[in-house]
Amino acid sequence: MKLAVDIDSVKGFLDPAEGEALFDYACAATELGPVLEVGSYCGKSTVYLGEACRSRCVSLYAVDHHRGSEEHQPGEEYHDESLFDGHSGLMDSFREFRQTMREADLEDIVVPVVASSIVAARNWRTPLGMVFIDGGHSLEAALADYRSWAGHIVQGGTLAIHDIFPDPAEGGQAPHDIFKLALASGLFEKVTLVKTLGLLRRI
Ligand code: SAH
Ligand code: MG
Repeated sequence: MKLAVDIDSVKGFLDPAEGEALFDYACAATELGPVLEVGSYCGKSTVYLGEACRSRCVSLYAVDHHRGSEEHQPGEEYHDESLFDGHSGLMDSFREFRQTMREADLEDIVVPVVASSIVAARNWRTPLGMVFIDGGHSLEAALADYRSWAGHIVQGGTLAIHDIFPDPAEGGQAPHDIFKLALASGLFEKVTLVKTLGLLRRI
């Protein structure tokens, strides 16, 4: 896998091994349909997924309201002051995201959808080869992401969920909860875990 940017220079929350796994599964998924991610932030995961989509000229829909999750807000653990828009008084990672896409030469592949996951999903009809969920970590947000997008994945397609911590001492449980929900639905089977990235296949 060769990326068009120095990935270490892209702000974000993704281990390189997780990024490579995203790339590999997205490569296979592009045979089935376009790819969609929820939670792009500054575009780190988008670069890996986008690189996979490039070879087949398949679209990658990158859904993010770019207002940050709970942990990115001022005063919170993962707040980045340089992504705060003093004019609106809100977080805004979209500028940085666009810059990453331009540097990675992915503007012809990635379709930014600057909206909340629920709004983006409202009239969605396009079947998807792969969905990557890495948005808000409240149970409400994670459930909404799962319910909004999992049903659009075609047979044989991939559902990837980030920040799975089987041990509650290591992290919040909402992503793990939707991972378990996907398995319990009978619609998905577990493929593997790569660090905190859970991978499932639509049966
Ligand atoms: N995938 C990124 C990290 C995503 S961080 C990486 O590789 O670095 C989580 C992102 O989800 C934030 O940018 C936040 O704005 C977005 N987000 C949180 N809740 C959301 C929602 N309900 N709809 C859309 N985006 C959301
Ligand atoms: Mg994450």
